[in-house]
Amino acid sequence: MSETVENHMELRFEAKSVNESLARMAVAAFLTDMNPTLSEVDDVKTAVSEAVTNAIVHGYSSEKEQVVIRCSRRDQLCVVQVEDEGVGISDVKQARLPFFTTKPEQNRSGMGFSFMETFMDQVEVESTPGRGTKVTMTKYIAGGNGR
Ligand code: ATP
Ligand code: MG
Repeated sequence: MSETVENHMELRFEAKSVNESLARMAVAAFLTDMNPTLSEVDDVKTAVSEAVTNAIVHGYSSEKEQVVIRCSRRDQLCVVQVEDEGVGISDVKQARLPFFTTKPEQNRSGMGFSFMETFMDQVEVESTPGRGTKVTMTKYIAGGNGR
């Protein structure tokens, strides 16, 4: 029987929209060793973007606050966690509904959580009003050979 392959990383950055691409790229780079397909990489990048954008747009009102991403891998299972210490969500069930948004005036469509659910296998949201939000997303990376 072969040994379990494990890897972990943590990235902390300021809540600025310029750092959304940093987050996407870092997670994509972390995945490389799992030999993902291009479509798997795109799926994870999209989900990460949505969660990071939410932390920046909804969680925080100051760019000085910090967002933390943790990635871990156990064989072909990838877990990505996006955490903020912002305003939190009072009703997580409602927030996860398609088309639900608290910022319609900013042309937000309320589809962020739905995208995360579509592109990842499992999405867990833990949030406490006044304390912050932690989104934990899991995906099995079937992988391919340069596809
Ligand atoms: P879109 O993602 O389509 O631009 P949206 O961000 O409003 O729109 P979702 O990403 O599905 O839609 O989030 C739904 C709602 O959940 C948000 O409008 C916001 O009220 C709340 N929310 C999501 N993430 C956070 C967070 N990190 N902190 C505080 N509130 C959040
Ligand atoms: Mg969103």
